[in-house]
Amino acid sequence: RTAVVLFTRDLRLHDHPALATSCAAFDRVVPLYVLDPALAEKSPNRTRFLHQCLAELRDALRERGGDLVIRRGDPVAETIRLAGEVGAEAVALSADVSRYAARRERRLREECERHRLHLKLFPGLTVVEPGAVRPTGGDHYRVFSPYFRVWQGVDRRAELAAPKRVELPAGVQVGRLPALPKGESPDAAPGGESHARRRLKQWLPTLARYDDIHDDMAGDETSRLSPYLRFGCVSPLAVAERAGDRSHPFVRQLCWRDFYYQVTAAFPEISTKAYRRGASEDWRYDDEAMAAWTEGRTGMPIVDAGMRQMQAEGWMHNRARLITAGYLTKVLGLDWRPGVAVFAHWLLDGDVANNSGNWQWVAGTGNDSRPYRSLNPVRQAERYDPAGDYVRRWVPELASVAGKAVHQPWRLPPEERRTLDYPAPLEVPGADPVWMR
Ligand code: FAD
Repeated sequence: RTAVVLFTRDLRLHDHPALATSCAAFDRVVPLYVLDPALAEKSPNRTRFLHQCLAELRDALRERGGDLVIRRGDPVAETIRLAGEVGAEAVALSADVSRYAARRERRLREECERHRLHLKLFPGLTVVEPGAVRPTGGDHYRVFSPYFRVWQGVDRRAELAAPKRVELPAGVQVGRLPALPKGESPDAAPGGESHARRRLKQWLPTLARYDDIHDDMAGDETSRLSPYLRFGCVSPLAVAERAGDRSHPFVRQLCWRDFYYQVTAAFPEISTKAYRRGASEDWRYDDEAMAAWTEGRTGMPIVDAGMRQMQAEGWMHNRARLITAGYLTKVLGLDWRPGVAVFAHWLLDGDVANNSGNWQWVAGTGNDSRPYRSLNPVRQAERYDPAGDYVRRWVPELASVAGKAVHQPWRLPPEERRTLDYPAPLEVPGADPVWMR
């Protein structure tokens, strides 16, 4: 008996419910990844990361007697075709929540029924499955704190070991890895399960200090697990279990990730429509300001530093994400959707639920219970980059400016200011920016 396991954003062997269960229940298992043109090559960074994840996954499967079949095209059509080729009777995959993934699942279900294939969906992309925690009288939690309280008490499934052997039927065409794209960030993290596991192991000793260090932008000591969680190189459940205490501030961040998944499952329009009913959407559209923000030349050092870190590493510190997104929407008054797109282009961890969910939170259109709050970039910079080291690291034009003066170059004596090849802050029409006062 044979099953096809369709891999999507779960590129690992450890704690993979769809794979582990299929290996236990079937004689032969055909692991499949379909390169979908509808998704491919939108982000050079993620395409390169994906390539590395697939290469590692294939090697790990080969070590266990199997292989990874790679096909190009529509994932539904390719899965059905492969199932026919190998005489499979079942298809297994991890359930996902985005609008795209939900449509793919729906179509797969229809096609499996038509071809008399058994389709089974498994957990694996979150710590707690979306839908496992529901408020009375509602389909999802709209506010984080009550969700977190209930989330902590949910019974978790047991973590699963990687299968020892994966038996592939003879004669399957395995296919080639995707071509590497151009235009990726020079210092982006490497993809793959072994890197994810190493990163987790190296970082865990920092866990005890997480609450003190997570907002220190220059210290840069957060886990940086987000790209690995995004591609499923590490199981979110396994990370949460390693961290232990369910109320720990780090585990709370993992819960934020789950929170946005359950929001997205209930509100699939999250990347295009305001989540909060009645939210003001009175945005400006200004191509020049948008370009300056995107390229990290707004003249607001902490904002430019964040945007440049993202371009260099395909990753940005969470505090910098809050500041840059807040600056775009609440200071410049520009629409959050183009901001989502810029982040989605660069971020290795860029995904619909967390990118759009967080952007909407910052823009005041989302799940924030205080949607009108606005972060003052200078005050944020002085608080979370008090010595100015984060800014000097990413904005070399300001490297000669000592201490926290780097956060307000417009206040430097004119002679010094003139020596810096750095722009004046963008004008904000109709506003008297608080940091200029
Ligand atoms: P850690 O501090 O070590 O946290 C551990 C894990 O918890 C992270 O890897 C991540 O999976 C999760 N997490 C942490 N903070 C959040 C959060 N606010 N929301 C959801 N999950 C969180 N995260 C993404 O994974 N993908 C995105 O596309 C994304 N876009 C964002 C856009 C904006 C405007 C903002 C403000 C935040 C965004 N985040 C996104 C959340 C957060 O910034 C990153 O998850 C975090 O910086 C990743 O670094 P880390 O792994 O070192 O985090």
